[in-house]
Amino acid sequence: MFNFNAGPATLPAEVKERARQKGFDPSLSVMEMSHRSPEYEAIHFGTKDKIRQVLNLPEDFDILFLQGGASLQFAMLPMNFLTPGKRAGYVITGSWSEKAYEEASRIGDTYIYASGASEQYRTIPRIHSWEPEENTAYLHITSNNTIYGTQWYTLPESCHKVPVCADMSSDLFSRPVDWSKIDIAYAGAQKNAGPAGVTIVIIKKDWLEDAEQDIPKILSYQTHQKKDSLYNTPPTFSIYMTGLMMDWIQAQGGVDQLYKQNAEKASRIYSLMDHSQHFYQPHADKLSRSMMNVTFRLPSVELENLFLKHAAEEEMIGLKGHRSIGGCRVSLYNAVPPKAVDHLQDFMLRFMKKHS
Ligand code: PMP
Repeated sequence: MFNFNAGPATLPAEVKERARQKGFDPSLSVMEMSHRSPEYEAIHFGTKDKIRQVLNLPEDFDILFLQGGASLQFAMLPMNFLTPGKRAGYVITGSWSEKAYEEASRIGDTYIYASGASEQYRTIPRIHSWEPEENTAYLHITSNNTIYGTQWYTLPESCHKVPVCADMSSDLFSRPVDWSKIDIAYAGAQKNAGPAGVTIVIIKKDWLEDAEQDIPKILSYQTHQKKDSLYNTPPTFSIYMTGLMMDWIQAQGGVDQLYKQNAEKASRIYSLMDHSQHFYQPHADKLSRSMMNVTFRLPSVELENLFLKHAAEEEMIGLKGHRSIGGCRVSLYNAVPPKAVDHLQDFMLRFMKKHS
């Protein structure tokens, strides 16, 4: 089976096999360990160290393991940093950034820094360097737009006064990150880094010191930082699996190598579509195309349905576009092997020949 799901997404066979052997030890599986035990602590802190290595993360950043998905971060971020008298600037590049913006607007004062809505979110707005309005608490972007299939290639130059936050749900661990341009990043593990359940939050330590204290303890970044993400029971098994994924990423040659492979996988599908005489119509403009989620339409909804049906018959699943926009979507996360792309490419060519 070739799994192109947008998330939860495919995991490498080696990682599942290792989990089967070690994670399900009949005498004491990872799921049954106390989160206060030395065995679990080794997994917990080991996973953190591995994430730091994989991401080449400078020491002035902390890594937190939280729950509630990126969706909770839409609310936690403003609760911690959007204090009265301040505003938060959001770049709207699709449905997830709309949601992040709406949630922050329920908590404090916000403004839209830039938006791609008038272009049906086909492009990432061009911002060379940040010029925030006065009293901006932070700026927020979505680095990869899972639903529309667009991605930031280069991040704007930092203005150093105002922190930049990135929802990296669907591209963290898929390419190198320039940490001089980001102050907080968050992502659920379920696309490039493991199963659902744990949300990885990466945050600059000195910024954490400014976080609001007068909020429920469980929603305070400082609470989780002070207790090393063991304030309450963490999602132990997901953290374990994320650790295995980090080992796997390193074994593939690290994020640099996966980045090359991801770019190559995506460019093969885009190139096929560009040579299809508009049979396959990519949603994203050329300069904003996502390497993670390739979204496209066929000439009719009937053909799209037939495409999905025939793909499923050839054991390719997860190609249906998000229900909010329709069409088709190929998700090409780290664990999607090049041979899955060979298979899909071959199928797309045959399907086009038959139906154009
Ligand atoms: N942001 C982006 C870019 C996403 O792709 C998703 C999930 N598809 C979310 C946020 C929401 O994540 P979660 O379901 O983990 O809350």
